[in-house]
Amino acid sequence: MPLKEYLDRLSDEKRTALIGRKTSDVRHAAFTEKRVVHAGLSGRLIAPEEYQNVWHRAMRMPPDGERTYTVYIHIPFCQTKCLYCGFYQNASRQEIEDVYIDDLIAEIERDAAMPHLKNANIKSIFIGGGTPSSLSVGNAARLLAAIRENLNLCTDYELTFEGRIHDLVPERIETWLSGGVNRISLGVQSFDTILRRRVGRIEPREEVLARLTLLKRWDVTVIVDMIYGLPGQTLDLWMKDIATLLEASIDGMDLYQLNVFPHGDLARAVQAGRVPPCADIAGQADLYHAARDFLTTHGIERLSLCHWRRDPRERSLYNTLAKTGAVVYPFGCGAGGNVGGISFMHHRSIEVYHEAIARGEKPIMMMEQQKPKKLRSVSNEIIAGLEKGFVDLHRLTSLDTRLEELRILLCIWRKNGLMYEENDLYHLTADGEFWYVSMTQSMVECAEILMCA
Ligand code: SF4
Repeated sequence: MPLKEYLDRLSDEKRTALIGRKTSDVRHAAFTEKRVVHAGLSGRLIAPEEYQNVWHRAMRMPPDGERTYTVYIHIPFCQTKCLYCGFYQNASRQEIEDVYIDDLIAEIERDAAMPHLKNANIKSIFIGGGTPSSLSVGNAARLLAAIRENLNLCTDYELTFEGRIHDLVPERIETWLSGGVNRISLGVQSFDTILRRRVGRIEPREEVLARLTLLKRWDVTVIVDMIYGLPGQTLDLWMKDIATLLEASIDGMDLYQLNVFPHGDLARAVQAGRVPPCADIAGQADLYHAARDFLTTHGIERLSLCHWRRDPRERSLYNTLAKTGAVVYPFGCGAGGNVGGISFMHHRSIEVYHEAIARGEKPIMMMEQQKPKKLRSVSNEIIAGLEKGFVDLHRLTSLDTRLEELRILLCIWRKNGLMYEENDLYHLTADGEFWYVSMTQSMVECAEILMCA
């Protein structure tokens, strides 16, 4: 369907949600809200009774050789629950963890014997959670050994282990690194002691910095996640955190916008007055821009709009590849991934996961047939470009000439102050950057309208 016709048919409300609105305050009000947490296409749901057959069919095929292959492994345990978290699953308990690692290794061994994974060269592995660093030394060593023994890692592989500052002690660090880990991603969120404790983080600022320094005695890439918009986080506190990033012993940092889940613990704590309010979306925009300007002024390199590096050893392979169409083989309770044109999520209940593994099944909770390959390529191209702040219209039209009509959307955004154009490259303006996730989702949806409707 022609894009203009599609846009004209939308109600004012839907049209504004899709393309935003004309305003003199682009930075704070170009969109009313962030449209999605992650931009992308959604597929066609597959009936539960077909999950195992569809999965086996995909894994019996050889890998196509053109794709990049990655692995995601989920560790669903945390020692404590952070106030803002919408993904907490289980408290750490040794006996449950022991059984879980047995199951996880069984799942890895089983899938690694299937043609698709057996013949794939794995570029990047991300062990996330939850809190992987909370695993006992013995269980971490067993899991890492299973990865090395069963998966074909590329020589320049990236193996990330996610964790908390609390777990940075020599014995654990030695175990991770001797097991093949070469990148550690830490959820610091803030260096401010009061703010950290308000959201459930234990160590004071001095301890966080001391443990980062300790970790950097080893030859490993270290990155930290920071969150803006935490309860009671003023611009002043945030900028102290950003300045600290330039002194801390780290190679890179992700700056994430806080998502407040409507009925989550944080929303309830704010409502009950137990913690101060969080920044609204306009306040988050100010925090984003202050950090962006500071880091840019100090010459810090930006790998994507929210990811920065101080040292070239930081590559951020997994995040980049997983968002732009790489195959992701998922393992563990609550993991998600895609292979052979299907995407799927695993059960989040550890008991249901255990029973599925015991039956010899892939523990699938939800499965979708992904959109056609060509549309996926276009979507990946849009996502990859806007993650870095631009849309290459010439490249998109070389994939499908119908996408020339995306110029309508890009011109609206140019007039609205969200983009500027240079030789068919449309760049986000500084004010437009904060809205890039919503804009990416809108572009992907419009591309789908043009190619499929
Ligand atoms: S450590 Fe991560 S997964 Fe666990 S509760 Fe905190 S934010 Fe959630």
